[in-house]
Amino acid sequence: MAEKKDNKFVFKELSKRHLLDHDLRPRSFSEFIGQERAKTNLQIFLKAAKMREEPLDHVLLLGMPGLGKTTLSHIIANELQVEMKSTSGPALEKAGDLVGLLSNLKRGDVLFIDEVHRLSRNVEEYLYSAMEDHAVDLVLDQGPAARSVRVHLQRFTLIAATTREGLLSAPFRSRFGVIEKLELYPDEELAPILERSAGIFEMQITKEAIDLIASRSRGVPRITNRLLRRIRDLTQVKNCLEVTREIVDEGLAMMGIDKAGLVSTDRQILSAVAKGDGEPVGLKTIAVSVGEDEGTIEEVYEPYLIRRGFLVKTPRGRKVTATGLKHLSQHADAPGTDLDYYRGLFS
Ligand code: ADP
Repeated sequence: MAEKKDNKFVFKELSKRHLLDHDLRPRSFSEFIGQERAKTNLQIFLKAAKMREEPLDHVLLLGMPGLGKTTLSHIIANELQVEMKSTSGPALEKAGDLVGLLSNLKRGDVLFIDEVHRLSRNVEEYLYSAMEDHAVDLVLDQGPAARSVRVHLQRFTLIAATTREGLLSAPFRSRFGVIEKLELYPDEELAPILERSAGIFEMQITKEAIDLIASRSRGVPRITNRLLRRIRDLTQVKNCLEVTREIVDEGLAMMGIDKAGLVSTDRQILSAVAKGDGEPVGLKTIAVSVGEDEGTIEEVYEPYLIRRGFLVKTPRGRKVTATGLKHLSQHADAPGTDLDYYRGLFS
């Protein structure tokens, strides 16, 4: 990674520092680590579609941000050897935007729509007929001059991704032939992702350091890669040749990431719920005390807190578990832990 020059270690390949997120993106199923069930299913459907020489059925990918939905879409298009056009729910404001994109697709091409839960109702309805009938009826002009023009489309594959499964309407969902949900990654799968990224960056890193970063990445590859970049910066500034456990520890502490991989917002959420004193606390109340949007709390923070067994959802609201309280009390000094209240509970 580095060589000694003027008594200082300098990175051999400074250009590698500027590698972007998409440069770390796996390009094939074999490079895509984990999510075995989704991967196997997709590979079977892809193979069958290829054998029949038909476009792949429409695919819906579910799962929280950073788990690999966009990456998988690129891989699908690559494996099918077709072109992929990308857009997102909020970017498609008018039906005309959608029709413009669709009419440029060739047979079998992929249209990827990220954050599909944010599509407007109107655009969603146009998408229905595009998905089913491969045509859309576009209304031109308004008032007495209004007329409808049928635009015929090539058979395409829609790959839609969403972090908010619950916000999709049932009719929309039912139009997808393939629905796959990506889950949080266990640490054993994050470690090879880190090894791969470190290899691309040409970093030297110990196994211990890899395992430590993996254990603090809350099950999300995007977080894993982000932590690796920050640790890489620290290693470089300290003129070290190799990323060691000590450097990772120092970096994680600087970033306010505790032993369970929680950041200050997680601890604030737990503290806010803990203040319910055993009574369930509603999402709205948590959002107000943490100053975060309800959707973000539900989709970004809570899944990991629940998986770690720190938080449970009940029909009346959220509750902190005994493990959650213990974690809070052990990290009373960490930034974001409003825990004078709980200090002593476990002493
Ligand atoms: P999403 O679309 O679900 O938000 P992305 O596909 O953008 O997530 O993935 C975020 C980053 O994490 C990618 O740039 C990629 O480098 C990495 N990544 C995601 N899943 C994997 C995986 N299974 N193996 C290796 N890297 C992955």
